[in-house]
Amino acid sequence: MTRDPSWLAGHLRDIPDFPQPGIVFKDLTPLLGDVDAFRFAVDAVADHAAGLTVDKVVGIEARGFIFAAAVAYRLGAGFVPVRKPGKLPWKKVTETYALEYGSDSLDIHEDALDSGDAVYVVDDVLATGGTAAATCRLVERLGGQIAGLAFVVELGFLDGRAKLTDHDILSLITV
Ligand code: AMP
Repeated sequence: MTRDPSWLAGHLRDIPDFPQPGIVFKDLTPLLGDVDAFRFAVDAVADHAAGLTVDKVVGIEARGFIFAAAVAYRLGAGFVPVRKPGKLPWKKVTETYALEYGSDSLDIHEDALDSGDAVYVVDDVLATGGTAAATCRLVERLGGQIAGLAFVVELGFLDGRAKLTDHDILSLITV
C-alpha cells in the first residue's frame, strides 16, 4: 500500500459546527488510533526534524503533546509543554494572542529552555497561526531559536503561514 499524504488524510474526520457553529473541526482520533497512520505521521515529522539541529521539541496543548512527545523520543531531544493558562505549576512566561473575538494566552515554564537551544515546535493543526506564532515568541523570549515547525494538518485557506515567516514549516496534510 502507498502511504502518502492523501492516504494519511483518509484518517481524518471532519466534524462540522464543533466546538462552535461555523467551525469544521479536524478530528485526528482515527489517525491516532491507527498504528500505521500514527507511525507514518510521527516518522514524517521526525524525519524532517532530523535534518535540522534540535535540542528541544515544544508541543502545544493539548493534541500537539501527542505528536511532539513521540517526535522528541525519536530525535533523542527533550520535550517542553506550552500550556493554556493556569496549568503549569512553576514560574512561567506568558504570551497573549488575538482570536476572532477576544484573546487567549499560552504559558511556558521560565526555565524550560537553555539559552541558545534549537527548538522544534509541533502541533496538530495550523489554522490562523496565532497559536504557533505566540509559541515562537515564548521560545524566543527564553533565548531559544526556532529550528522549525511541524503540523499534521494545515488549513491553507486561513494562511497561518503568513504569521510564521522566516521559519522552516512542514505540514503533512494541507486542506
Ligand atoms: P490557530 O491559532 O488559529 O492556528 O489555531 C490552532 C490551534 O487551534 C491548534 O492548537 C489546533 O489544535 C486548534 N484548531 C484550530 N482550528 C482547528 C480545527 N479546525 N480543527 C481542529 N483543531 C483546530
